[in-house]
Amino acid sequence: MRLIIIGPPGSGKGTQAKRLSERLSLRHFSTGDILREAIQKQTPEGRSASSYVSSGRLVPDELVNEIIRALFRGKDSPKQFIMDGYPRTIAQASFFDQLLREQGLDLDGVIFLEVPDEEVTRRLSGRRICPNATCAASYHITLKPPRQTDVCDLCGTRLVHRDDDKPETIAKRLQIYHAVYDELVEQYRRCGLLKEIPGVGAIETVYDRIVKALKPC
Ligand code: AMP
Repeated sequence: MRLIIIGPPGSGKGTQAKRLSERLSLRHFSTGDILREAIQKQTPEGRSASSYVSSGRLVPDELVNEIIRALFRGKDSPKQFIMDGYPRTIAQASFFDQLLREQGLDLDGVIFLEVPDEEVTRRLSGRRICPNATCAASYHITLKPPRQTDVCDLCGTRLVHRDDDKPETIAKRLQIYHAVYDELVEQYRRCGLLKEIPGVGAIETVYDRIVKALKPC
């Protein structure tokens, strides 16, 4: 299966993508995680992306598209995958569409997690993530607290409050989200790929809604 998952920041797309990838044996690509890792390692891509990510702005399409092209290069190119946070603009969607066509692949669906802005703000301002790239577990100070304050349950790394999860940046990310995503969502709706899923509720409930929407009938 080949899927894209989109939704506002904090909609739970990372959590749901991880779950779908484990249960449906899909490779999971999160451009947010790839960029954060590149920034941490100070690679050339990371250095170019750093100021955009920390201020909540979108990284230029060319840079993100090149990262994606590299993933699909070579004989290990993914055939079954879920893209999390990509494409995010019409230009990225056109690029990805072309890339898949060159590989002889098509998409099975675009999962759109719908979460109101107030809920996004509540979720993001309390989110704490594990900066260990191989773990990347996510917590919430009240909704899903770690056993020990600010320490990852899974790998023991000290949790961080992402710069772009701070209140002033959340507002900007939401503004950018609506400015660019509304058109992208409309495009996927027009071509019949969009699966609109209410993203509020327990993680397992949202997951069940997604699986139901992916069933052919
Ligand atoms: P995320 O973890 O998906 O919320 O992404 C975190 C940040 O990474 C975003 O606010 C952007 O700065 C950047 N980013 C992630 N994916 C993309 C993308 N497809 N296009 C542009 N910027 C991106």
